[in-house]
Order: sequence, then C-alpha cells, then structure tokens
Amino acid sequence: MCKAQIKEGYIDKSHCISCGAVGNLLYEKLEDRLFAIEGGWSMCRCSNIQCDLRWLNPAPSPELLPYFYKQYHTHTAEPIGGKAKQIFTQSVNRYLSAKYGYSAMSGWAGNIGRWLIQSIPTLRDDAAARIFWLPYTEGGRLLEVGFGNGATLARLGGLGWNVVGVEFDEVSVGLAHDRGLDARLGSVEDAAFPSESFDAVVSSHVIEHLPDPLGFLKECRRVLKNNGRLVLTTPNAASLGHRLFVKNWRGLEPPRHLHIFGPNALLALAKQAGFRDVRVTTTARSGSILAQSLRLARGANPEGASRFEIETLAILGWFASIFSGSLSGEELRLECRA
Ligand SMILES: [Zn+2]
Repeated sequence: MCKAQIKEGYIDKSHCISCGAVGNLLYEKLEDRLFAIEGGWSMCRCSNIQCDLRWLNPAPSPELLPYFYKQYHTHTAEPIGGKAKQIFTQSVNRYLSAKYGYSAMSGWAGNIGRWLIQSIPTLRDDAAARIFWLPYTEGGRLLEVGFGNGATLARLGGLGWNVVGVEFDEVSVGLAHDRGLDARLGSVEDAAFPSESFDAVVSSHVIEHLPDPLGFLKECRRVLKNNGRLVLTTPNAASLGHRLFVKNWRGLEPPRHLHIFGPNALLALAKQAGFRDVRVTTTARSGSILAQSLRLARGANPEGASRFEIETLAILGWFASIFSGSLSGEELRLECRA
C-alpha cells in the first residue's frame, strides 16, 4: 500500500479515483525538475492490474496548488517562423481543409505539402491537434478549458466556431481579451456555464493538473449539448517512454501533475462521468515528451530541445509503437460524446 506521511497542506489519497482499488508505492522523492519547487513527492500506482492510473500521494491540497505555479506561465507566444514555417503552415491548412472540411484554411502551398503531411503520421497528428481533430462545424459553440497562449482558441474562432475559453493564468486571459476573445478566469466549474451550452469541449494537457478529474469530466458533460463532443489530450502513463525513462519521464512533472492516466483509467473515468462512445487512443505526437525525457535523463534543461530533436524522436517513437503496442505512444487522446 502507498503509505502516506501527511505533512501540512497534503491529503492522504490512498485509493484510485478511477477504480477504487488501493495504490502501491511507485516512486519516492520525485523532484521538480522544471521549476525547482522545493520538496520530494511520492507517486502511487493502482494495485488493480486492469487499471493504469498513477497519482501523487500524499496529494497536495487545493490551497497549496497555486504555490506550484508561481513561475509557471501558459501565455508564451508561438515563435514567428520564417518562409519555411509559412510553407509548412499552408500545407497543414491544405491538409486540414481536405480532411476536416475547413475551406477557410485552404493555402497556396499546393498538393505536395498536403500529401507529405497526409503521409507522415507524426505530422498528420500535429496538424489535426491544431483543431482537436474536430470536423468543420459552422457556428458550433466550442469551449476550450486551459487555452494557454490562445492560439488554438483564436484559430478555431477564425474557422467558424463560436469560441469561449477558461484559463487559470490571469495574463493569458488578459491577452485573450485584447484579441477580442470570450475568455474567463478560473476553472470550468467557476465559469458556471448553463447546462447544454456547447457542441464541443476541448482541453490540451489540463486534466493531469486537476485535483478532481472526475468532477471536471462531469462538468464538461453537463455543459455539453446532447451528443456534443469532448476531445482532450494528456500524457500516457503506460507509454514506452515512461517504461524507458522511468523517473526521468517528462510526463511525470511533479508536483503539478497530480494524476497520470493510462488508457484504461481514462476510459473508465470518462464512462463514470456519464460519457458514451468513449474512445481512447494514443497520438503520434510523442516527440516533445521523448526529447525532453532524454534531456532530463542527461541532466540537461528539458526546455532546450530543438525542433530537429523533437521531429526525429516523434518518428522514432511512432516507429517503436508499431512493435510495442498501439497504445504505447506518449500522449493519450480521449474522444467521447455527452
Ligand atoms: Zn485504479
């Protein structure tokens, strides 16, 4: 059993939120390798062999969480690229317009660029993640939970969706307001949207930060219209990279990642929240997590990974997943309907 020595500001969370089984100690003395918050954290793994949830135990209390985000900002702007990036973006647009029906995205890069993106799984998933794999829906209402620098929210808004965002980062919310976006500060629960408000709710790498992922999923379901779609991504605890890099795996990110899901735990939790047509897959976007894990293992700054390292490792990761199992990628994608 994952024995918790409770300090001030921490809570004993000895049982799995997905299946209720007790947790076994997986790691001790995990350190914050990104923002150097002082402390050592323990992580449990669910004892149910069908379940693949990992979580911090003792768990930080909600009051303690803001302290872990003192230097953590989500509003970093996307770098402005040169000519090559412009051609790539046009190719991405061309691919998305053909595959997902976004005619407003047609670019001048031509069919060669589109064909390249369509043929390389890592690029294909990177492209589709920009629109959360959502087909064109004129006038559909979309909520993004944790919109960060607002690039995706603005993009989806420009493509015909009526967008609303919620975000914890005050500066991000201010910047989104400057861009004319409807953005609310706080959690999805704080925003208290009326029931059945949205056709789609999307969220990228947020659920692992939340103290109550089930409550979050239930709230997403409540604000979705009947048959509305939830699409979210999160690190995959059952990935090949986690097996290889162990404590150096970038997906752990203590103490900010409170729950790290495997495919089974995420699927079960979405069903518990009342979603149907629940599907969990892994994306081919393993490059960043693998490149940053490799740097952590070498004692280097994980943020310093180059585009070349990321793209090379994405292809290697995708290739390895052919042999290591279809759900061994570094990132999970949950898609389900309310
Ligand atoms: Zn479990």
